[in-house]
Amino acid sequence: MSTTSTGTAPLPSATGPTVLTGTPVVPGVALGPVVRPAGAVQLPTGGQVPLDEAARPEEKARFVVAADTVAERLSERAAAATGVSAEVLSTTAGMARDRALRGAAEQRIDTGTPATVATTEAAQQFVDLFTSLGGLMAERVTDVRDVRDRIVAQLTGQGEPGVPSPEVPSVLLADDLAPADAAGLDPTRIVGLATRLGGTTSHTAIIARQLGLPCVVAVGGLDDVPSGVTVLLDGEQGTVTVDPDPEQAEGRVEAARLAAVALEGYAGPAQTRDGHAVQVLANVQDGAGARAAVEAHAEGVGLLRTELAFLGRSAEPSVEEQAAGYAEVFEAFTGRKVVLRTLDAGSDKPLTFATAPDEPNPALGVRGLRIARQNPGLLERQLDAVAEAARRTGSTPWVMAPMVATPAEAAEFADAVRARGLVPGVMIEIPSAALHADRLLEHVDFLSIGTNDLSQYTLAADRLSADLADLTDPWQPALLLLVQLTAQAGQRAGKPVGVCGEAAADPLLACVLVGLGITSLSCAASAVRGVGSRLGTVDLATCQRAAEAAVAAPDPRAARAVAREILLA
Ligand code: PEP
Ligand code: MG
Repeated sequence: MSTTSTGTAPLPSATGPTVLTGTPVVPGVALGPVVRPAGAVQLPTGGQVPLDEAARPEEKARFVVAADTVAERLSERAAAATGVSAEVLSTTAGMARDRALRGAAEQRIDTGTPATVATTEAAQQFVDLFTSLGGLMAERVTDVRDVRDRIVAQLTGQGEPGVPSPEVPSVLLADDLAPADAAGLDPTRIVGLATRLGGTTSHTAIIARQLGLPCVVAVGGLDDVPSGVTVLLDGEQGTVTVDPDPEQAEGRVEAARLAAVALEGYAGPAQTRDGHAVQVLANVQDGAGARAAVEAHAEGVGLLRTELAFLGRSAEPSVEEQAAGYAEVFEAFTGRKVVLRTLDAGSDKPLTFATAPDEPNPALGVRGLRIARQNPGLLERQLDAVAEAARRTGSTPWVMAPMVATPAEAAEFADAVRARGLVPGVMIEIPSAALHADRLLEHVDFLSIGTNDLSQYTLAADRLSADLADLTDPWQPALLLLVQLTAQAGQRAGKPVGVCGEAAADPLLACVLVGLGITSLSCAASAVRGVGSRLGTVDLATCQRAAEAAVAAPDPRAARAVAREILLA
């Protein structure tokens, strides 16, 4: 017998192991002792004596060495990582090298401030700046604080902050992870991850998905679980069982291992048990990602996020450079479907050469397709590069625009895409687009629903906010209703409607999406097998029943529960 807790109920329960529940993110089961990130770095508390003038150059050199060491360590980890992990680690390394941040610290040391205090004050200056710039910078603030802690730890010999590297495979419990900590996780030592905060679209969740690391977020009561205690983490049910019955726990681990072995046999193409074909595609950002997606048996690429290859670049890449990058992806899937998205710069993905740095409300600002308004020729040059890559590889890519709000925007974009012999589509990420899907389909050949943004705009909740993760849950019935409206418009027009947001990576939700009328699902390569295999266990009518029940449910938790009951019956 077990008890369930979603709050901060005292542990342990007298009636059996306590089961904490949260939001499931990455399926899989992990059993092991609890480890937690190293304690907070001790920052200087003030009251330090100013440095003598003679001591300042040496103090500055000490600071430079510490910042360089931190940057190099992160760069080395970036080089050993791939995909989003590599990108996150490079971004944090870049922050440790950032000239403005370092300059602000060095200036303080020049006037007599000790290096630890100078680091802390300079970091605070940037935290204040990013905070005043608005929501877009939320993740940057985490990066700045993370880099500050690493440099101060290096200066004071406190040891590197962040995730430990345990000898025994362990389950990591944390409030949330700094992006660099999540990206640096070693899945042979950390076999499961549960966080108190965070949502399904947070960096932590995206990286856990990429690593295939069983993960549950927004778990209530996690603070009360001591380090060293054994827990059973179930990334499909969204539970953390504290001090489980050893025999039952081993049984769950073995069942999950067998299920994973069965997944290895998945080779696509995906279809429901009764033969209804559904394309299961991959989200990628470059040629290397596309080749990994081929290995994972993705049927094609459902979302090539072109902006990710250009984050951190100060100037627009040439048409030739863009064409070479896109051609690598097209080549990996010769003769198969590849959907390329034009630059989705702005808000959570700022590009120095394309986005306005000073918008008060960037998520509602000039982002996605809208950047074309202020950057004459940017979109045209990108489309020229896509057309050139298509010519070189003999492919016919589908090309879609992000953040489309109106039929007029869709019409203008479609003209530019068709003029180059490419297939036009648009993303559905804004409620107005879902409501007017019929009208958009008068202009374009396909739609692809970005549930990450569609949930943030439907629920008016920042997708990166850990505090609002319950609102941006992809099982929100209002979000599912908009998906249904869009899919129905596709069916009326006889045109495909896919989902390429993180919702498509959840095997059970994938079945619900198919039941709503979605024709393709695009997810992280590591999720392709799980989604494709799950679809093969249910027939279309069951997916449709689960979909109706989920849309009618009062909240995400109930939607998930009712769909699970129907789909796993
Ligand atoms: C989405 O919004 O769901 C999406 C796929 O786009 P991105 O996550 O890149 O904003
Ligand atoms: Mg989006």
